Amino acid sequence: MGRRLGQHFLVRESILSSIAAAACPEPGETVIEIGPGRGALTRHLLERAGRVVAVEIDPVLAQYLREKFRDSPKLEIVESDVLRAALDAYGPVAVAGNLPYYITSPIVEKTLALGPLLRRAVFLVQQEVAARLAASPGTRDYGYLSVAAQLRAEVTILFPVSRAAFRPPPKVDSAVVRLLRRAEASSPAEVAALVKFAGLCFRQKRKTIRNNLLGTYPKERLDALQEAGRRAEQLSIGELAALHRKLGGG
Ligand code: SAM
Repeated sequence: MGRRLGQHFLVRESILSSIAAAACPEPGETVIEIGPGRGALTRHLLERAGRVVAVEIDPVLAQYLREKFRDSPKLEIVESDVLRAALDAYGPVAVAGNLPYYITSPIVEKTLALGPLLRRAVFLVQQEVAARLAASPGTRDYGYLSVAAQLRAEVTILFPVSRAAFRPPPKVDSAVVRLLRRAEASSPAEVAALVKFAGLCFRQKRKTIRNNLLGTYPKERLDALQEAGRRAEQLSIGELAALHRKLGGG
């Protein structure tokens, strides 16, 4: 079994049913499941959702799922790398999964990029990543991932999951995290520009924003802004957005 693909299967039914309930609180929704593996979570999602689209990269597992769920018309199995799959082809969706940890950040980014098509996402991730996603400014865990997620979603850590709940057990503890999409005040293009700006501000976490932005914005404009002399990790999302506006947005 390919550990390389982050294949650690959840075996605790109570956790699986809690993830499905959080991902799909109302019946009839479409849920995209990332990395269904042998279908442990898929089964619970099918009990609640109107439609489940399960994206699995491993051809052996995809074939196993096709056979296991051949009598489930609500399930569509997409044999693909999730980072290459067209997640925007299914209308408004919830996204769920016990994620392969080696690509957690790009999966979170791709999910949030769904914009208005995303209702919520419920992911089982490394505890450390859950803490970073939910972190507040000025704390150790606060960084680009926190800002990129919280700009577009309200992030809540729902509950921790011990490594003993998996077969084989991973080397780290985990947590279930929920990203509830925020109704955006600005257009998707503006939000995308702000996410990009946050990426520049956090480029080197220990450097001031000014130094991270030199080369992108004129020195004189940066020198005129007091908050540019601080480090990005000290600024709230509102303050980062205000700075972006002062520098002309875009
Ligand atoms: N959901 C199952 C469970 O909880 O028992 C399996 C979770 S396991 C942590 C991660 C799953 O993601 C595996 O089935 C693995 O094959 C799949 N996977 C790994 N990389 C992937 C990728 N790039 N795209 C889609 N699926 C991937």
